[in-house]
Amino acid sequence: MHTHGPIAIMSAMQDELQAVLDELPDAKVHHVAGRDFWRAHWEGHVVIAVLSRIGKVAAATTATVLAQHFGVRAILFTGVAGGIGAHVKVGDMVVGTHFMQHDMDASPLFPRHVLPLYGMDRFAADTQLRDCLLRAAHATVLELGECIHADARAEFNLDDVHVHPGLIVSGDRFVSTTAEGRALQTELPDALAVDMECAAVAQVCHDFGLPFGAVRSVSDRADDAAHGDFTRFVDEVASHYSVNVMARTLQLLPHA
Ligand code: SAH
Repeated sequence: MHTHGPIAIMSAMQDELQAVLDELPDAKVHHVAGRDFWRAHWEGHVVIAVLSRIGKVAAATTATVLAQHFGVRAILFTGVAGGIGAHVKVGDMVVGTHFMQHDMDASPLFPRHVLPLYGMDRFAADTQLRDCLLRAAHATVLELGECIHADARAEFNLDDVHVHPGLIVSGDRFVSTTAEGRALQTELPDALAVDMECAAVAQVCHDFGLPFGAVRSVSDRADDAAHGDFTRFVDEVASHYSVNVMARTLQLLPHA
């Protein structure tokens, strides 16, 4: 990882970004490309917190601005995702080891999922960021009572929360039917979670030679019930995970 430049923290949802901003009293806003980028200090690092916006193109634009305009040295992503791995349940966390666009299909010119001209179908997380995120997520789970209210723990069955390292797949679709979730599972059996941004940000980071790491808390099972308590989950669980895991991750990372 480079030793200079801020560390970017991207969130997909406004509530999650707000929870992070609440920890950053000295945050100053910069407007670029229609987005608000918040520069601040957190755990001894200079950070830029920003909403990725939803979907691959929006997130890729945000990541490009972070790389080109703000000269960040790494990008961390925190957000919610649908759980598609068999053992991945609502309230668990998935730390990305690899990222793939599940809706990339340039066949028959290129094999299904392969990114034209990249010669591959997935990008790996930076190993240092991945390991810090894993340690941070495990520590958050061990002290869950500190960050999640007892009512929310009971409501979302958070008594047995697991952290899973593995493949996160992204596409421009909120997967909210059981049929679609199952089809994804069958097509990509090693995928643990589905979102709409991570693989796009991973590709931008690859292009700029930037380390990338992501943690997603599982808000739904990418099935017919996915719309359920999505907003309340983000508000009462995911936002608290985000703040806790990001703060702990920053503590583990070397200072510039
Ligand atoms: N119903 C929500 C939709 C937001 S889009 C709303 O009204 O606000 C969903 C966001 O959460 C995206 O940023 C995506 O990355 C993530 N996500 C959570 N569950 C998902 C799923 N089942 N499929 C795809 N993305 C999901």
